[in-house]
Amino acid sequence: MYYNSILETIGNTPLVKLNNIADDIPGTILVKVEYFNPGQSVKDRIGIKMIEDAEEKGLIEPGGTIIEGTSGNTGMGLALAAVIKGYDCIFTTTDKQSKSKIDLLRALGAEVKVCPTDVEPDDPKSYYSVAKRLSEEIPNSYYPNQYDNPSNAQAHYETTGPEIWDQTEGKITHYVAGMGTGGTISGTSRYLKEQNEDIKTVGVDSEGSVYKKYFETGEFDKDEIHSYLTEGIGEDIIPENMDFDQLDDVMQISDKDAFLTTRALAEEEGLFVGGSCGAAVHGALEYARNNEFGEDDLMVIILPDSGTRYVSKIFNDEWMKEHGFLDSDAE
Ligand code: PMP
Repeated sequence: MYYNSILETIGNTPLVKLNNIADDIPGTILVKVEYFNPGQSVKDRIGIKMIEDAEEKGLIEPGGTIIEGTSGNTGMGLALAAVIKGYDCIFTTTDKQSKSKIDLLRALGAEVKVCPTDVEPDDPKSYYSVAKRLSEEIPNSYYPNQYDNPSNAQAHYETTGPEIWDQTEGKITHYVAGMGTGGTISGTSRYLKEQNEDIKTVGVDSEGSVYKKYFETGEFDKDEIHSYLTEGIGEDIIPENMDFDQLDDVMQISDKDAFLTTRALAEEEGLFVGGSCGAAVHGALEYARNNEFGEDDLMVIILPDSGTRYVSKIFNDEWMKEHGFLDSDAE
């Protein structure tokens, strides 16, 4: 038995029970471990889908160039699909991202342009603006724009949602995921709620992002925005892929809570995952503790990526102490 290419191994990731860090909570808490994808993140699902939808619509021709603004994981998903399908890739990213993520993209033959984090999204230097400009300048290029491209949420509607429904035999009662572009949470939730409208969907946001306030008040408050270190979740824009109608609640998590929970997942559950996974689990457990989560409840939390991309940060004691996330006398 073999796969025709690495792309066929995307999806069908395992669900794993949390046994230790959630042992005070009744019911069942499961995590969907997306680092089992070949590019080691949930974003492989949308890389292939956005490219194949663009091919079908004639938006990209053989030998073309894919250009995207990405924090790394979407780039990896796009780069994998591009290698197999014969496209070039140019990615723009911010100087906040792990160097190892950028090196990984270059390993798959992509060109990476690093842009400043602390500029407005519409500033010509921002990674959004640079990606857009390049896609206008370079002939036969395609700009997937994961923020507003419906193929992003659709990939999760077609794969992540049905997988969770089947794996839990329809017993899922709560679905929790981080909110970045919104594709994962919106697409998966749309599928799950179509099967059972009583399923509760909880979004996880980062302190410093606009989402929680927007969810609660409908207001986009620029003064709330400040930079933070958790990679992949929270935004300073409202992407079209973020469907707020899917959400029953939003938890906003600090970098410190996200990173300490990330380390606890490795140390207590053997789950070596990234910082947005710690945020998602921290938010999910806080939600379960505050909302009468019962014996018969079954929660699924998405863990988007792997810890390998954060060894020099979250898993490095010096880095954690420098940012005040660990006591300086901690071992
Ligand atoms: N975590 C990580 C590490 C990510 O790269 C992303 C994607 N930005 C997310 C969470 C959020 O996923 P989505 O964009 O589908 O909302």
